[in-house]
Amino acid sequence: MQRRISRQVRVGEALIGGGAPVSIQSMTNTQTSDTEATIEQIRGLEAAGCDIVRVSVPDLPSAQALRGIMDGISIPLVADIHFDHTLALEAISQGVHKLRLNPGNIRDPEKIKLIADKAGEKGIPIRIGVNSGSIDRERYGKPTPEALVQSGLDEAELLESRGFRDIVISLKSFDVTTIIDAYRLMAQQTDYPLHLGVTEAGLLRQGTIRSAVGIGALLAEGIGDTLRVSLTAAPVEEIGVGIEILKSLDMLERGFTIISCPTCARCKLDLESIAIEVERRLSAIDTLPPLRIAVMGCVVNGPGEAKDADVGVAGAQDGGVIFAHGKAVRKVTAEAMVDELIAEVQRVADAR
Ligand code: SF4
Repeated sequence: MQRRISRQVRVGEALIGGGAPVSIQSMTNTQTSDTEATIEQIRGLEAAGCDIVRVSVPDLPSAQALRGIMDGISIPLVADIHFDHTLALEAISQGVHKLRLNPGNIRDPEKIKLIADKAGEKGIPIRIGVNSGSIDRERYGKPTPEALVQSGLDEAELLESRGFRDIVISLKSFDVTTIIDAYRLMAQQTDYPLHLGVTEAGLLRQGTIRSAVGIGALLAEGIGDTLRVSLTAAPVEEIGVGIEILKSLDMLERGFTIISCPTCARCKLDLESIAIEVERRLSAIDTLPPLRIAVMGCVVNGPGEAKDADVGVAGAQDGGVIFAHGKAVRKVTAEAMVDELIAEVQRVADAR
């Protein structure tokens, strides 16, 4: 896959675009003015693999809390601003690493220019976060892909008119086909780094699938420099989904991947319980390198998949066979299968 090479922006220690790895973002749902709770949630996101975190800034106490939040976390902080440009100016004064502006609700060009000038002085980027739900309908009409793109381009032109170029653009909608078309259009017309997302994607299951389809389709075409999976769920779930999307496209080497079969009449094991337990126990190992672990029900596809993985088990009549680096290493009983597989994973991991 040929990745679209965009211009690059720096967000604190993180890079977006210009060939940098696709970063994973999330957003807190604590009250931002509650510094302690917000720091605690962000630390959980950091531990889960979040690269950049965004907080909403709905009022002055939230804006004034930003510096304190940054003191308690290790990843770059983005301030999400709607309606009130003075909150953006305060967020910049607080030293925030990036702003997200919604062109749909800060519409006065003079106010946007003020923000551009101050962000430029401090050297922080701005994401133009176009959202179909808040697009200026008087100006752009229905939120078609073309309308989303034009809204983003007009805002970018305004920022560029002040000599401000550290711009990231997102074009979000609940409608997956709309975002795919919108990002494709934007990718053809500009070299801005693109932040991907399907917005208001829903609860965990639906939101995961909509995000995987929308974000995944674009990434598979080489479009996209950073992403946020948007779920009505604990923010930490968004990180897990983002990581799996990137791993599915071989765009991220992090953590383990389980290859497990759907089972059928040939399977003599409670494979689902075994796979769940393997996943639970591997998740608890902090230092695990990127490994593929196969958990397969029988000898039809089992040995082949287990051999191709770093470590695997394939079910057999009286238990299963453990494989490592493509070789059968020993037979195990069904009862000992999880312990033996985890021990083998640990051995392979330790040898790396
Ligand atoms: S590996 Fe075996 S048990 Fe699993 S789905 Fe295939 S044939 Fe069925």
